[in-house]
Amino acid sequence: VKRNPGEPEFHQAVKEVLESLEPVALKHPEWVEAGIFDRLVEPERQIIFRVPWVSDDGTVNVNRGFRVEFNSAIGPYKGGLRFHPSVYVGIIKFLGFEQILKNSLTGLPIGGGKGGSDFDPKGKSDREIMNFCQSFMTELQRHIGPDTDVPAGDIGVGGREIGYMYGQYRRIRNEFTGVLTGKGLTYGGSLARTEATGYGMCYFVEEMLKAKGNSFKGKTVVISGSGNVAIYGTQKATELGGKVVALSDSGGYIYDPSGINLDTVKQIKEIERKRISEYVKHHPHAEYHEGCAGIWTIKCDIALPSATQNEIDEASARILVENGCIAVGEGANMPSTPEAVEVFLSNKVLFGPAKAANAGGVATSALEMSQNSMRYSWTFEEVDAKLQQIMADIYKNASEAAKEYGAEDNLVIGANIAGFLKVAEAMYAQGVI
Ligand code: NDP
Repeated sequence: VKRNPGEPEFHQAVKEVLESLEPVALKHPEWVEAGIFDRLVEPERQIIFRVPWVSDDGTVNVNRGFRVEFNSAIGPYKGGLRFHPSVYVGIIKFLGFEQILKNSLTGLPIGGGKGGSDFDPKGKSDREIMNFCQSFMTELQRHIGPDTDVPAGDIGVGGREIGYMYGQYRRIRNEFTGVLTGKGLTYGGSLARTEATGYGMCYFVEEMLKAKGNSFKGKTVVISGSGNVAIYGTQKATELGGKVVALSDSGGYIYDPSGINLDTVKQIKEIERKRISEYVKHHPHAEYHEGCAGIWTIKCDIALPSATQNEIDEASARILVENGCIAVGEGANMPSTPEAVEVFLSNKVLFGPAKAANAGGVATSALEMSQNSMRYSWTFEEVDAKLQQIMADIYKNASEAAKEYGAEDNLVIGANIAGFLKVAEAMYAQGVI
């Protein structure tokens, strides 16, 4: 805390991980001696830069850009870019730190990093978004590369933003390489990348349920957010036999007891880029309520928080448990506060932590990198089959690690340990660097 003042989200993420790694430290004193834990929490490199851009009315704006290259022991830095006014170094560091273990868990050779800006894309014209993305990439391009650091999307960064940034990278560097993932299909993107985080979250939850002889079939599901993860989570949860009855955005939530109509949501969010409140204009029998936290008062069997960090606090977790919720899968990064996680675990709610449950996005990004290197593309079905296998393996590895270290059914501990072992071995083998 003294070394990284004013970064509560980073402290929260590090504390959770280090506490769960205590049994590993006891088993591997040589890793403690080699300073693995001290080195793990210090980014290899952090870059902070000015992003000047001009609005349509001629106003000059200055935002701040970040890229935290956290750990490259097992592969090039990999992790998304977030554009949201709340972004500052503490948020990017928490996300980058989590990314190290998440990426390791996928079983693919990718290190951990994260970046973004305090730029607010809401209400901006296409041209303003392009101006911003070009300015952002003009600096970022010096630091990244297909074998060095490969960013992707996150909150506020979807296909449109990746397109503008990729174009600027290609123009400045004069090379066509897989330096960003989440690209459009006409210029190197992977089929199923757009769907991957939401689909992967549902595959993971299905594995958790299956292990207890249960499934999505016939379950009522609440998903927060209405962005990339929430939309494709809704699609897969429905395909697996669940009924999704609520979605939200930062303004409020919709409740449709007959099941959310996804075509309407896609039209509102992906095409018109409007607020989720518009939904009730198309479906007058549904309800809209102001305030996004209220979504957790809706009775459900499965909750999939897919908006942002710390969106489920202790009180919301208690309401979910009282309402009979049996499983929680974190689509967003760190959406449950530590107190909320404790409520879930102590009430035997099946709990899939973010670094396991939402790893499908980055795993498919790594598959996009492989396809770019081969200059070849797999079909949707091929990528989706690999994604399903990866999510099943993550579940298996996390639950086995939990059992081995005496924390059966605790996937928070299991995922942290399973992800950490590979990174620690690689760091140890490569010496004190
Ligand atoms: P999007 O920008 O597509 O959507 C974000 C959604 O969450 C929007 O509905 C947004 O509402 C809502 N939201 C954002 N910030 C807040 C807030 N402070 N309070 C309430 N609601 C908020 O992002 P993604 O769907 O890509 O990302 C969602 C989460 O999933 C993030 O935590 C991200 O880190 C995580 N994630 C995403 C991956 C991906 O592949 N996209 C991969 C792994 C994790 P509004 O429009 O009102 O802001």
